[in-house]
Amino acid sequence: MPAEPLSPPPGAARRPARPLVFLEVLRREQLTPHMVRIVAGGPNFFRFQPKDCTDSYCKIWFGPDGRPVPEGADLEQMRADSPREQWPVSRTYTIRWVDTEAAELAIDFVVHGDEGIAGPWADSARPGDTLSFSGPGGAFTIDPEADWYFFAADESALPATAAALEALPAAAVGQAFLEVQGPADRQVLRAPEGVQLHWLYRDEDPAPGLLARSVAAAPWREGTVQVFAHGEREAMKALRDVFFSHRGLERSRVSLSGYWAAGRTEDAFQAEKRTPVGKIL
Ligand SMILES: Cc1cc2nc3c(=O)[nH]c(=O)nc-3n(C[C@H](O)[C@H](O)[C@H](O)COP(=O)(O)OP(=O)(O)OC[C@H]3O[C@@H](n4cnc5c(N)ncnc54)[C@H](O)[C@@H]3O)c2cc1C
Repeated sequence: MPAEPLSPPPGAARRPARPLVFLEVLRREQLTPHMVRIVAGGPNFFRFQPKDCTDSYCKIWFGPDGRPVPEGADLEQMRADSPREQWPVSRTYTIRWVDTEAAELAIDFVVHGDEGIAGPWADSARPGDTLSFSGPGGAFTIDPEADWYFFAADESALPATAAALEALPAAAVGQAFLEVQGPADRQVLRAPEGVQLHWLYRDEDPAPGLLARSVAAAPWREGTVQVFAHGEREAMKALRDVFFSHRGLERSRVSLSGYWAAGRTEDAFQAEKRTPVGKIL
């Protein structure tokens, strides 16, 4: 079957312009060998309207020079003025935390090599750089009625998982399976005592499917569970089978999605959501 076109057909209705927020990079922190935190703020901070969910995310807009579009940029105008290959592109990132008192927010970027736009940009970002984004979106909130909680994530969903763990009630019980490259990529996360964190290292177990294999073998409690599972697309398909076929969970108990796909830029990953390979549920 031929793939669907990756760009809208000529004459297709344009999306309405999204207001952009232009922040200033205040500092860059190396959290682990493969994770960099960018803390941003500045005079435009209060134009940002936080969302009351733990997986709040934004779309960072990059220009053809591989940097966030400059302050005041108008995406519609940039598209009208330049050929398709120079249009701004977006990359999706979780807002790890917002501190309204300090007028700062943080985004944690996986540094995954020289390929791509956002990862390399964050790795070399400097105070004073512009961070331009639209959003936030997001929908996940902790269900206080759940009997227990289950998390599964790779590095890309570690920020959203960390935010969800922090939002759990103190008496919460559960498990979190967190896949990273190696022991040095482990982070200190705040979670209730009753939630066990299991760090999985690809360096120590490089066979495919580490996250799904570990989750399939996890002890399973009685009662109503709430699941938050996000990360690489094929890993999420394997988890889908674990949660729905093996554990028989109801769809409404599970938040599951791909955050990226191996070998695809985000543009291709997003476009493939309209094709069979891109569908998880
Ligand atoms: C709702 C949502 C929230 C997200 N939150 C975060 C977040 O907080 N932090 C974060 O780092 N990512 C997050 N992601 C994932 C992020 O959007 C993608 O990883 C994105 O592709 C990175 O863009 P890039 O320009 O660095 O690489 P791209 O140009 O998109 O891709 C270039 C190459 O790098 C590979 N690649 C992309 N991401 C990774 C990765 N994580 N590991 C290894 N290889 C990779 C691609 O497969 C491709 O081959 C989130 C995604 C979604 C949908």
